[in-house]
Amino acid sequence: MTDPANNPAPKAGIPARLHASPLSAGMVVPFVTLAHTDRTRPIWGKLDPDRVQKAFKDRLCQICGDPLGDPFVVYIRPYDFRTGVAVEAGLHPECGQYSTAVCPMLAGAMDRHNPNPLTEFRRCDDPACTCALWRAAERDAGDPVREGTPAEAWYEASISLADYKIVTNPSDQHDAPAVGISLRPPTRIGRLRKIRDAAPAPDSERHIDPLAMTMAVREFFGLGEHH
Ligand SMILES: [Zn+2]
Ligand SMILES: [Zn+2]
Repeated sequence: MTDPANNPAPKAGIPARLHASPLSAGMVVPFVTLAHTDRTRPIWGKLDPDRVQKAFKDRLCQICGDPLGDPFVVYIRPYDFRTGVAVEAGLHPECGQYSTAVCPMLAGAMDRHNPNPLTEFRRCDDPACTCALWRAAERDAGDPVREGTPAEAWYEASISLADYKIVTNPSDQHDAPAVGISLRPPTRIGRLRKIRDAAPAPDSERHIDPLAMTMAVREFFGLGEHH
């Protein structure tokens, strides 16, 4: 928790849990976002693989970096339903609420992922900063098609901390290996709600029908309508 005495200025729209988090352009820099040692200098849209791994392993919130509570939430696409793995780290519900309010992807304000987040960055003056190792146009492992593809539908799923389990899907000829939080039974999804619709895509780029997939998944998990 943040000591209010150290933080006299209230930050409008930012939940108390995130008041100690670094800010860039008035927005909280998520724990898992790639950034210089000075974390007020993030590479928006780019994940730090070491921080993602730590969040999964230590059950941390991907926004504030603190341990998750019970229940926590995950943000998932229809594809994640199908493979049974939530590939993004969990969140506190209030950190999720904040991120859906400010994240252009989840809020539906941008219809394409940033095609190449690392094409533009400047190395900083700290010799210990990992930016010395960054390379332009590097892709996130296990997510080869996401950048530059049409934005997909996103759902928020609420999961009990008792069901927290990290699983790995082996790669096949179509999909890269996926590591993340299990969505398969016995994991119970307490609440499922749509955060945003998929962006319109030409037929040639449309690989799945999100609605059909969601209905199939609801059937798979024995989920009724919103609850
Ligand atoms: Zn740096
Ligand atoms: Zn959090």
